[in-house]
Amino acid sequence: MKIVIQKFGGTSVSTEERRLLVLEKILDAKKNGYSPVVVVSAMGRKGDPYATDTLLSLLDKHFKESNLQATDLLMSCGEIISTVVMSNELNKRCIDSVPLLGGQSGIITDNNFGKASVINVDTKKLLPILNEKKIPVVAGFQGITEDGYITTLGRGGSDVTACILGSALNANKIEIYTDVDGIMTADPRIVKNASLIKEISYNEVFELAYQGAKVIHPRAVEIAAKSNIPLVVKNTLNHCSGTIINKDGNEKYNSVITGIANMNNRVQINVSLADNDGNSNYFNILNTLGENKISIDLINVFPNKKIFTINKNQFIPFSIMMKNLNIKYSYEDNCSKIALIGNGIKDVPGVMATILKTLTKEGIEILQTADSNTTIWCLVKTPSSVAAINALHRDFNLENKYNCIKD
Ligand code: ADP
Ligand code: ASP
Ligand code: MG
Repeated sequence: MKIVIQKFGGTSVSTEERRLLVLEKILDAKKNGYSPVVVVSAMGRKGDPYATDTLLSLLDKHFKESNLQATDLLMSCGEIISTVVMSNELNKRCIDSVPLLGGQSGIITDNNFGKASVINVDTKKLLPILNEKKIPVVAGFQGITEDGYITTLGRGGSDVTACILGSALNANKIEIYTDVDGIMTADPRIVKNASLIKEISYNEVFELAYQGAKVIHPRAVEIAAKSNIPLVVKNTLNHCSGTIINKDGNEKYNSVITGIANMNNRVQINVSLADNDGNSNYFNILNTLGENKISIDLINVFPNKKIFTINKNQFIPFSIMMKNLNIKYSYEDNCSKIALIGNGIKDVPGVMATILKTLTKEGIEILQTADSNTTIWCLVKTPSSVAAINALHRDFNLENKYNCIKD
């Protein structure tokens, strides 16, 4: 049996018109000899009646923070609605389908409500459905604990559902359908002439996703990579061939930078030895942050100061911790971390020089930089981030780099 997992994101299932396009994709897969397993997200985006954010807005902040299990139960409802509605659409075309909760499809998780990890996938339920030539329509983003409580897998987690099922069923491919043509050189909402990347390696997409490109969940990419299952990101709304993600990508494009991602809401912290003279806590600060589960990045340690960034939502616990340790610091709020990613970065001289030249020419202040084998980061103030990303995209010639042939 040739199995394809077809995951449809929130905007793909948001209206009846779009659900008909979803139906076409499922029928096409069947016509091509595949047994589809469909995974759906909650309909629409914030403000739409059954979208995850809309459901979350029904609860107050305190309840959400102190009742993670109940919050997961509410959050899971959006996907459950989509599952049954999509099954109804299939039924109208006389196609047999079985709507399933994540747990009913066999996804067992730990009890880390809100960000559960999958500990087992039992394919006993799905295989007989597929053998009967019916289409399972699985609610994405959710699983069940061993003692029967519904969990969610972290925001954007329907991609994880698709890949975890793909891996468990040893699918021939996993298709992620969304509202853009595939993985682009930058978020098309930020860079108007971002181009479609036709073929790219798992590790570059993982890095793009991990650094903020919301188009796919990094954990989903990791799972597909481990099983070496081809992952395709496509547009529900057209017939563009999309992006194929595989082990090696396509070296023919031969680019230094493959794409640019961006993360807002960063706060840059600067702790200097001079301000904390005589305070021994200063020397353990990075360990203490780790022990308090405050994650930091862009870490630069100098003899006389330590600079790093944290997420804005950790600033309050961070400031409480610093007060308790009697450590003084200065900070720069409202920063964005821009990541330039590409397997071609290593061994190519002058990449950082181009970045500095481009941003300086645009009059954009660079607060910090860092680099690894595949990624170069620069921290800028958020109001200049869009201009920075566009300028970098232009100067690294990412416009019209890959051509999407639409049919
Ligand atoms: P879905 O509901 O289908 O899961 P998401 O909103 O999670 O959709 O992801 C799709 C969005 O990701 C696009 O609308 C696009 O704005 C955004 N995005 C961010 N970075 C990229 C990128 N590099 N390529 C394509 N889309 C991107
Ligand atoms: N509906 C969930 C979210 O908004 C999961 C998903 O869309 O993948 O995060
Ligand atoms: Mg998504």
